[in-house]
Amino acid sequence: MNHSISEKLFAEAKTLMPGGVNSPVRAYSNVGAVPPFIARAKGSHIFDVDGNEYVDYVGSWGPMMLGHAHDAVIKAVASTAENGLSFGAPCGLESELAKLVMSFVPSVEMIRMVNSGTEATMSAIRAARGFTGRDKIIKFEGCYHGHSDSLLIKAGSGMLTTGKPSSKGVPADLAKYTLTLQYNDVAGVRETFDKIGDEIAGVIVEPVAGNMGVVPAKPEFLQALSEETKKHGALLIVDEVMTGFRVGIHCAQGLYGIKPDLTTFGKIIGGGMPVGAYGGRLDVMQQIAPLGGIYQAGTLSGNPVAMAAGLATMRELSGNPEHYVRAERSTTNLLNGLKDAAASAGIPLTANQVGSMGCIFFTEGPVQCFADVQKSDLELFRRYFLGMLDEGIYLAPSQFEAIFVSSAHTDDDIQKTVDAAKKVFKSLV
Ligand SMILES: *Cc1c(COP(=O)(O)O)cnc(C)c1O
Repeated sequence: MNHSISEKLFAEAKTLMPGGVNSPVRAYSNVGAVPPFIARAKGSHIFDVDGNEYVDYVGSWGPMMLGHAHDAVIKAVASTAENGLSFGAPCGLESELAKLVMSFVPSVEMIRMVNSGTEATMSAIRAARGFTGRDKIIKFEGCYHGHSDSLLIKAGSGMLTTGKPSSKGVPADLAKYTLTLQYNDVAGVRETFDKIGDEIAGVIVEPVAGNMGVVPAKPEFLQALSEETKKHGALLIVDEVMTGFRVGIHCAQGLYGIKPDLTTFGKIIGGGMPVGAYGGRLDVMQQIAPLGGIYQAGTLSGNPVAMAAGLATMRELSGNPEHYVRAERSTTNLLNGLKDAAASAGIPLTANQVGSMGCIFFTEGPVQCFADVQKSDLELFRRYFLGMLDEGIYLAPSQFEAIFVSSAHTDDDIQKTVDAAKKVFKSLV
């Protein structure tokens, strides 16, 4: 496959932006390749500047549940843009999107729109701290909640020891307020709450972990989080930036039957435009400025074009449940095909799936937490990734990311992908 134009563009970009990119994973550093520069995308396919066509399983990292450039979404954006891009003043579309989101997620009694998932989680943490008057938060190893200071913290040496910054530039003083526990470890959660439950402002969790590959939560784990936060007056923040309207129209909290105090959204609710949101219990949200003393604001928050994209996407998804059925079926077919292909080639492989989120790990299963994820053979992943790219299959360039299937993916797309994997797996052994 020829990538000469991408190579030129990447060389220039590297002189202008750190690593040539505006978000690190796009630089393909893990896999040692030049990232294709993208010219356009439609449905399940993405096209680079060199004229190569790929079946896309990145989906802009989650938002593209309907596939790229869905007609209704593009039309809504174009017609809204004609009336101006941003007013910095209320517009009716904000309430339309709020109503639609809230109608499917009953735990959200009031909502605030922001511009990214990072802003949503950062603001939800502030809301939990402001509401409870406590500083400590709990998160889980392998979960990602955006890049705000309080959330770029990794575990210390023991469960109850203070965290360490996972990025330079995060004050160690702040890290001591973030505890990082093991995902799916019910006993660890109970023990921590027994000891210091009254100091905890909130727990933030991905209800299906999608940033360490895909690792579903055990139902009893989310149940324990629900019980312990309630018992100790802490807030449960369920981060549905990825899972929201991806794993189903009632999100992961609908699937698992939990009722968080706060929920964060992003990705799909913006339909490909920069949108995030956080919301939840009325008594908590009424503490947000201007009603209460927890400050949070945004010049471009709730801007009409972004709201129009989100609204059109959400209307399409809620009006037509077939989208979920189709995307989930395609995901199952894809993972079954990959498992068979790996078995034929004698490659150990574990596949995890929730709805249209999927992931394969090059290890014997089960994969239930970050320690399990780390058993995956990363060199094998790297070679698999490069082989698939060359076959016209556009996957996330990291073992620690999900496969996103859209309702626009066809049986032909899946078959083409499985055929490519058969060829690539054979070449790996
Ligand atoms: C993507 C993601 C975020 C961060 O969202 P951005 O829009 O990239 O800031 C937060 N939480 C989860 C679970 C995510 O998947």
